[in-house]
Amino acid sequence: MNFDGWLSRQLDKTKESGLYRKLRTMNTAPRPEMSIDGQRQIVFSSNNYLGLANNKRMVYVAGTVLHDFGVGSSGSRLTTGNSEWHEKLEERIASFKQTEAALLFSSGYLANVGVLSSLPEKGDVLLSDQLNHASIIDGCRLSKADTVIYKHVDMDDLEGKLKETESYLRRFIVTDGVFSMDGTIAPLDKIMSLAKRYHAFVIVDDAHATGVLGDNGRGTSEYFGVFPDVVIGTLSKAIGTEGGFVAGSKVLIDFLLNHARTFIFQTAIPPSICAASYAALEIIEQSKEKRQLLLLKVKQIKTSLEEMGYTVKGDHTPIIPVIIEDTQKAVTFANRLQEKGIYAPAIRPPTVAIGESRIRLTVTTDHTSKEIDYLLETFNLIGKELNMIK
Ligand SMILES: *Cc1c(COP(=O)(O)O)cnc(C)c1O
Repeated sequence: MNFDGWLSRQLDKTKESGLYRKLRTMNTAPRPEMSIDGQRQIVFSSNNYLGLANNKRMVYVAGTVLHDFGVGSSGSRLTTGNSEWHEKLEERIASFKQTEAALLFSSGYLANVGVLSSLPEKGDVLLSDQLNHASIIDGCRLSKADTVIYKHVDMDDLEGKLKETESYLRRFIVTDGVFSMDGTIAPLDKIMSLAKRYHAFVIVDDAHATGVLGDNGRGTSEYFGVFPDVVIGTLSKAIGTEGGFVAGSKVLIDFLLNHARTFIFQTAIPPSICAASYAALEIIEQSKEKRQLLLLKVKQIKTSLEEMGYTVKGDHTPIIPVIIEDTQKAVTFANRLQEKGIYAPAIRPPTVAIGESRIRLTVTTDHTSKEIDYLLETFNLIGKELNMIK
């Protein structure tokens, strides 16, 4: 069979299982109300939790630096790509995360892969939460250390696995801070005490918690008042730009700069993006009230959906997964939402387990009460239509 014929057959299988994906086109800047594929939609699925992706001050700052420094960084950080803006931002991230130092990567994905493929060595073991993000899974796969999966946020299971792995040289517990598909908060206080008791190191991927959790938005570390060995984050969620980072001790950062291949062999992000991110961190630290307001909106949506009879997963975070179970039904639900002008795609296997397909709602500070009321009305309508609620 020819090349394309073989691939089409593979894709047919994807389509038959209801897992076929395609792109949608955004015709406007990120905000709650957008034009998608030319159709007006209220978006309840973006990671732009504080509305910063389109923040005027950040756009202005990025524009100024764009004019001075150009559109591209021209090289990896270790060759010609390292500007003063990269260094300023790293210092700012370190002070924001209250660590000695920080290192920028081109994305959160690459930060995870870089850390996990360079830090643990052969003879070490990674203890990884069952629901960790794909970039952590890929990092574990690239690592020369063994990987042991523990049940999602199950501290008894983690302790059991720490006991079973005592013969390893070093042990690393790796977890999302806020889980991207379930909205659960990792019990970092308990993880830290287990790590202390069993002499393990802790790596936290705070992609969804940064900017959202803690009084100053510093993330799960601030929320629990603990200091993990390695904090990984992304600039692409609440911070509203692009890129990833690692925050920790000076020696950790020096080690990664010398050993993390996704740092060494990657072109640096543009200085303009660094400048916008720098401005974002300032805004985030001053956004305590905005964060409280955001969490009030979360509470309103969750409580209302539960009262309607829906199963809603997760802790008190802007990620609100509404469980539909059946994959096809979840797709139908998402299509009906879209017809009604609400954009919140179905999340299906392999992103989530079979039988746990869901509509993953997210809410941002920019959503108005009117938009939220419309969301709830529409969920009530479609749920009845599909015989999911009474
Ligand atoms: C989004 C996300 C990432 C990837 O970050 P990017 O900057 O988009 O590459 C990593 N980990 C988690 C938990 C995420 O949600």
